[in-house]
Amino acid sequence: MGIAAVASPIETDALIIGAGPVGLFQVFQLGLLEIKAHVVDSLPYPGGQCVELYAGKPIYDIPALQVCTGQELTDRLLKQIQPFGAPIHLNQVVTSVQRRADGRFDIETSGGIRFLSKTIFIAAGVGAFQPKPLKVDGIEAFLGSQLFYRQGELPDFAGKHVVVVGGEEAAVQCALDAVQDGPHQAASVTLIHRRDDLKASPQSLARLKVRRGQDDIKFIAGQVTGFDSAGGKLQALKVTDPDDTTHTVVLDVVVVLFGLSPKLGPIGDWGMAIERKQLVVDTEKFATSVPGIFAVGDINTYPGKKKLILCGFHECVLAAFGAAPIVFPDRAIHLQYTTTSPRLHALLGVPTPSAD
Ligand code: FAD
Repeated sequence: MGIAAVASPIETDALIIGAGPVGLFQVFQLGLLEIKAHVVDSLPYPGGQCVELYAGKPIYDIPALQVCTGQELTDRLLKQIQPFGAPIHLNQVVTSVQRRADGRFDIETSGGIRFLSKTIFIAAGVGAFQPKPLKVDGIEAFLGSQLFYRQGELPDFAGKHVVVVGGEEAAVQCALDAVQDGPHQAASVTLIHRRDDLKASPQSLARLKVRRGQDDIKFIAGQVTGFDSAGGKLQALKVTDPDDTTHTVVLDVVVVLFGLSPKLGPIGDWGMAIERKQLVVDTEKFATSVPGIFAVGDINTYPGKKKLILCGFHECVLAAFGAAPIVFPDRAIHLQYTTTSPRLHALLGVPTPSAD
């Protein structure tokens, strides 16, 4: 009988948990110290809260950038870390961390990737974002085929009967996108929310009003209380309105956008000191109570902590310097300026300016 080959883990200097703005900038600061990193995030795209919660909204307090949106900041960070080629593994949660006797860590993700890393940087923000589910018994059987919770994973709506459930910006936008003229236009769109009291931007609400007036989008105030299926296919939702009347809404695709709730998840079980769901760190190295594990950004706590992107960026610098002696125990680590250091220019792939 053959022995099944077990793939060996990916060896790395650093594993960064979280591809929010702070996790991405951690790649940069580690890269300047020649510390190789991999990044894991539970979302289908990098950017953390900036992309998941306010991609199109302006940020005004990033130094020297008068204004940029959450998406733009993420795109700029991704460009800035490009020279370091850190792989970003999306759509998976880091589920387990075990410290070896030699101080390195065995790490596993829900996607089955295993790492062996000298250090860990937890940049997990407020935790892994999980979509709030539709609480109807049995409907989860259609997840990924006809039931969707994340906008990044939606199928082509072309010619389909689409139902969107939710009352905030994401749900309104999704309904508006589905009726957009073009090759991906849905055959019909129904928006369902508890009450006819939607919380979206004035522009989106104005566009919705027009589409409702033209009967392009049908709105039903009510709660999803059941469904019909046949031959393994979801066929309709049962929606009960405030007058206790139940409507049957025929569909091909249902998109539930109730928002995302962050979960600290397994990070809480890895033996680090925690205060009110945040990892306790020192302010010299942003080290947690477990040697070799650092925590930066919204996930950490210390006296005076401010949950701001700028503060997280500062923490990345000191955490990288804190980790360098673990990764390179025999090397003296010196601070170098990106302006003048030929070594940093080589790492960044940029030319060194001439002396004059
Ligand atoms: P996050 O952005 O939360 O990213 C953490 C990432 O880790 C997430 O992508 C999550 O999916 C992932 N993750 C968590 N656990 C796991 C796990 N176990 N496995 C895999 N992945 C995991 N700050 C400012 O400085 N200026 C502003 O103007 C500003 N405006 C804001 C507006 C809004 C509406 C909100 C909600 C926040 C705003 N903030 C602002 C705060 C700012 O967004 C946060 O401080 C910043 O996003 C923190 O970055 P982070 O990388 O630490 O965490």
